[in-house]
Amino acid sequence: MEKEKYLRQLSPIDEILELPAMKDLILNYPRTVMVNATRTVINELRRTIIATKKEDELRSISLEPDDLVPLIHELVKEVMSPSLRRVINATGVVIHTNLGRSILAPLAVDAILSVASNYSNLEFNLDEGVRGSRHSHVEDLLRSLTGAEAAMIVNNNAGAVLLALSAIAEGKEVIISRGQLVEIGGSFRIPDVMCQSGAILKEVGTTNKTYLEDYQKAIGEETALLLKAHTSNFRVVGFSAEVPLQDLVALGKKHKLPVMEDLGSGVLVDLSKYGLSHEPTVCESVKTGVDVVTFSGDKLLGAPQAGVIIGKEKLIAVMKKHPLARALRVDKLTLAGLEETLRLYLDPAKAIEEIPTLSMILAPLPKLKKKAEKLAKKLKEKVGTKYSIEVIEDVSMVGGGALPLEELPTAIVALSTKNLSASKLESKLRKSDPPILGRVREDKVLLDVRTIQPEEIGEIAGVLATIS
Ligand SMILES: *Cc1c(COP(=O)(O)O)cnc(C)c1O
Repeated sequence: MEKEKYLRQLSPIDEILELPAMKDLILNYPRTVMVNATRTVINELRRTIIATKKEDELRSISLEPDDLVPLIHELVKEVMSPSLRRVINATGVVIHTNLGRSILAPLAVDAILSVASNYSNLEFNLDEGVRGSRHSHVEDLLRSLTGAEAAMIVNNNAGAVLLALSAIAEGKEVIISRGQLVEIGGSFRIPDVMCQSGAILKEVGTTNKTYLEDYQKAIGEETALLLKAHTSNFRVVGFSAEVPLQDLVALGKKHKLPVMEDLGSGVLVDLSKYGLSHEPTVCESVKTGVDVVTFSGDKLLGAPQAGVIIGKEKLIAVMKKHPLARALRVDKLTLAGLEETLRLYLDPAKAIEEIPTLSMILAPLPKLKKKAEKLAKKLKEKVGTKYSIEVIEDVSMVGGGALPLEELPTAIVALSTKNLSASKLESKLRKSDPPILGRVREDKVLLDVRTIQPEEIGEIAGVLATIS
């Protein structure tokens, strides 16, 4: 049988590795990676030979060892290139959870780099020469920015809620409105987190309306906490009623019960001053006298992924000592980035300029139009003969569950070509290096310039030129 002969002709791995054409690869890549890639290519070839039915097809398969080198090279390159890598976000969604939420201010990036490549005083008090607390690096900043008595940081806001509920209400009842029992993207569900914390959910009111007396009636011996949760990317509109935080706080005071708010996004500047809808600020929450507030680091705050817990000193102290605090501990890189981002908020005008999440959300339409014109011009220069390129006005979303109904006026570059359908073009852009992620509408690929970084404009044109 001819096949046997072919299979016998396959070179052994050792022989292929010795080929002069492999020398450069062997020098540049780890030996185990080379061996595995070579084995994979040979096995693949063996499978092809076995699966091939026709004699002439069999004869067209090259068994020349040198012809295997490019295949091995491709495979090795794939194995050695990072899986987690930069993408160009042309979706216009600023806080895109799948794309890493917030990108950081340059000062925050510098701080991370310095702490990552050196030893630091993470848990060391340099004044006294004794052990310190990792929370201390941001606690003063958070106190002065929010007016809260104390603060701590954990891995993310889901962790913050879990820790707070466990520390305050394990085995006891937590009262929350039915209208706030929501699921937030990525399977964060208030009832599930509550269950995990050991607290007992006591839901009151209805989906659309909850009144203060609903909470009042539910308070009993077993009550440990009144909870208000931001409904994030979900809104009840029309015939609805929620109890304002300050009324809950007053009720809590009357019954000597702590009140907590899961604020979700946690914004430190009042965005309504800049023409957006009002998103409750952290300061406004603290002013009501609420006992605990939790929010994310990487949503509207524009910092690294983290969960910020602020509130009354006594409660925060209990949380800092809770065993879960160790499990949810935040790392030094996050703290470095968070600290520098928070410091920018000491001057709000600087914050909205230098924190990319805020500057992208607040980018004015004329500026976006200019950016889109620039991108369109670059594209026309490079690929104008192949593509139809036009600048049109559209809307972009904030994302991250913040300001879910807000439509930000934006400018986009719409691309289409006779050679490819819009979905094919989208797929090719997505698989480019760097990947470019846009939106498809009808027969066009839309690139929203709101989330495209200035230095990426030329890059996008370069990538498009390589697509056929
Ligand atoms: C986003 C969000 C969370 C989860 O925060 P992570 O930082 O993603 O863990 C919890 N609660 C609310 C209200 C949210 O909006």
